[in-house]
Amino acid sequence: MPVTGVYFDGQSSKRQSVTLELAQGVLKLNSDSAQFSVPAGELKIAPPLGRAARVIYLPGGAHCEIAQEDFETLFPDQAKALVPLLEQHWPAVAAALVITLAVVAAAYVWGLPYAAEVTAGKIPPAISARLDRQVLANFDEVWFEPSQLPADRRQAISQAFNGLVFPDAGKPGELIFRLSPKLGANAFTFPGGSIVVLDDLVNLADNDQEIIAVLTHEAGHAHDHHAMRQMLQASVVGMVTLWYVGDISHLLSVITTVLLQTRYSREFERNADAFAVTLLHANHLSGLSLAGMLEKLQNQGKDSKLLKQLPAPDSVYKVLNYLSTHPDTDERIKMLRATERP
Ligand SMILES: [Zn+2]
Repeated sequence: MPVTGVYFDGQSSKRQSVTLELAQGVLKLNSDSAQFSVPAGELKIAPPLGRAARVIYLPGGAHCEIAQEDFETLFPDQAKALVPLLEQHWPAVAAALVITLAVVAAAYVWGLPYAAEVTAGKIPPAISARLDRQVLANFDEVWFEPSQLPADRRQAISQAFNGLVFPDAGKPGELIFRLSPKLGANAFTFPGGSIVVLDDLVNLADNDQEIIAVLTHEAGHAHDHHAMRQMLQASVVGMVTLWYVGDISHLLSVITTVLLQTRYSREFERNADAFAVTLLHANHLSGLSLAGMLEKLQNQGKDSKLLKQLPAPDSVYKVLNYLSTHPDTDERIKMLRATERP
């Protein structure tokens, strides 16, 4: 059955109406002015593009365009061949889909942390310091009150901490003292490397060595930019803006949440403990101080479970204790004890 199409001779832009008919392996074209035949084997058929007109290339540079329905009439075998083609290739299609999903997942699981690690290590100190000042201002508004420790007590702790000999140039940022009834006995590292120690933690310690031990662990987090990496991972948009623009306003909106709610990974904790032990040993101090302090924090954490019976929001804040951001305490205490054995 003949179908109609448009013929282009390849020499001019002239359109000619033609009828096309396929019989015994030969395509016959008829127009008002001409008539010719082409063996079907010499035709080149462009792959389908949605419901757009099909293009049939003829030898010598000419081509015909015919509607999809007419193409199906003209080449019923070719049109039908598409279905078995898909059926034949669906495992490949499924495999391609699975591979694509795996690549996306891998980019998220490994690529994002890697990008965060690289970026965190390249942030200029001036930007880190500015970031920490703004983070502190945010925390001061909601979570912190001025420290009530006597000035000479704070000075003594600062001097002991700043007097530590660091194994490389990885000295952490400023040591900040605050009181926080909401956060209790706690210490944490800001993304830029400043370390905050809360009054309740100082008061919980039996001696200054235990306080210094906790601070060396935090110095480990600061040294490896753990908080910055967590924050950057939590905010891909933040990472991009910080990287290219140095604009930290967007990051500020997510920092408080990230710092308070994100648990450090087991790997980060292990690295921070290893850094702490190396630093303590280099300064003739014992890792047992850190183990002892962890035990005190753990016991305090058990007590604070009672606080869950208090009306919210106080109960919610109180359980956000030091251990909620520092998991695997039992395992860490064991490891620390093991490293101190002769
Ligand atoms: Zn930690």
